[in-house]
Amino acid sequence: MRRQRNVKIVATLGPASTSRKTIKALVEAGADVFRLNMSHGGHEDTLERHRLIREVEQELGRPIGILADLQGPKLRVGVFAAGPHILQEGQSFRLDLDNAPGDAARVQLPHPEIFEVLEVGSTLLVNDGKIRLKVISCDERSAVTEVLVGGEISNRKGVNVPDVVLPLAALTEKDRADLEFVCEMGVDWLALSFVQRPEDIAEARELAKGRAAVLAKIEKPAALSCIHEIIDIADGIMVARGDLGVELPVSEVPPSQKRIVRACKRAGKPVIVATQMLESMITSPVPTRAEVSDVAHAIYEGADAVMLSAESAVGEYPVIAVETMNSVAESVERDPTYRQIVESARTPGKHSVADAITAAAREVAETVNVKAIACFTHSGTTALLMARERPRVPILALTPLKSTARRLALVWGLHCVLGEDVERFKLAVVSAVRIAKRDGFADENDKIVVTAGVPFGVPGTTNILRVAPVNEKAIYEGEAY
Ligand code: PGA
Ligand code: MN
Repeated sequence: MRRQRNVKIVATLGPASTSRKTIKALVEAGADVFRLNMSHGGHEDTLERHRLIREVEQELGRPIGILADLQGPKLRVGVFAAGPHILQEGQSFRLDLDNAPGDAARVQLPHPEIFEVLEVGSTLLVNDGKIRLKVISCDERSAVTEVLVGGEISNRKGVNVPDVVLPLAALTEKDRADLEFVCEMGVDWLALSFVQRPEDIAEARELAKGRAAVLAKIEKPAALSCIHEIIDIADGIMVARGDLGVELPVSEVPPSQKRIVRACKRAGKPVIVATQMLESMITSPVPTRAEVSDVAHAIYEGADAVMLSAESAVGEYPVIAVETMNSVAESVERDPTYRQIVESARTPGKHSVADAITAAAREVAETVNVKAIACFTHSGTTALLMARERPRVPILALTPLKSTARRLALVWGLHCVLGEDVERFKLAVVSAVRIAKRDGFADENDKIVVTAGVPFGVPGTTNILRVAPVNEKAIYEGEAY
């Protein structure tokens, strides 16, 4: 199954999409990676979804990525004695550690760490940012606030504290348990919510022990202020526009998105643009023009992947939502302006042999008429470098490791194939031309570029490039290497 686009599609699974039939339809419509949201659904649902994805993967013979999204330290108020209350602008409202049910004047905020760092003047946002509170006075156990923007408050509504770095571990007890569970089950990516600093990623990586790659969700202003350090240490990034748009004024989300996507492209790390991309499709089979434009914009910008959340998890039209993203992607990528933007945004790589070989592979592919670039990769590093070049021709990422093929499913332009573990370059070339032919990228009279690292099996050694005829006989009759 060959995609006619480079950008990838991530679809969140939920009650609306948990059947083998729907998952298969989602892959056929264009989903490359599935997201399992650990904020919803218990371990049993997660296990079932994982099982179904792997069954469909087996049936379709195409590596599928699975991303487990950990809830992170989501702060919530306690409960109220008499249902929801409307907070009025100008009134005072108290938050404290007392677990007695709340009323119109106070409620519990069961997070002592917050009171430790709150200052007079700090802002607290409740219920997706609808309610805005300003701290008037505070101590280690409570805060008296003034309601700047009123609204309805009710049991366990979420709280955001945008302007302070919270002394919170990035991983709660629940996250640690979920992390161990999903790593044992077998996922390819772990997404960390509310990352504030690079150390948060280091902590998760230590727990994951190589079982999954680690992706940082950028949804806190604190993360934006050390974004380059976070990108350096993470394996991937998500622009989590939902919470980002609560913690920052919504008008600052687009510039932040641009900054993050550009920085990731420069660093060669995959980046997902997420949340509300086709929001109206939760209940409508047709998106708004603004939503289509938003998806298109992320693709023009060069994001690795665009994501569906509620649209595919609980919406009425999960498959149509994926089809919509797919057709928007195809249409954007056919536009000559897309190529112009991609090429003008290209930045030089580092001074390593692997960087030089991948840059050269792109140049060769664009100078002579070749149909694809095939790169052999173990850890996936070489394939990431190749994708970073954003070449005009398709990239075949060939790897003997299932885990690498699945992880790379998230990355721009990579057609991932699980191949045999070749030991000699000539055999690698033969294997690459067979796959290129089989998957419809080239035929007998074409040429492809092949890159690999010799000797095989040593990670990060890409050092050889060949322009090969898609013709096994010609390869065997050529020079003996
Ligand atoms: P969430 O993350 O859906 O887990 O909150 C995405 C976002 O905040 O945009
Ligand atoms: Mn979020």
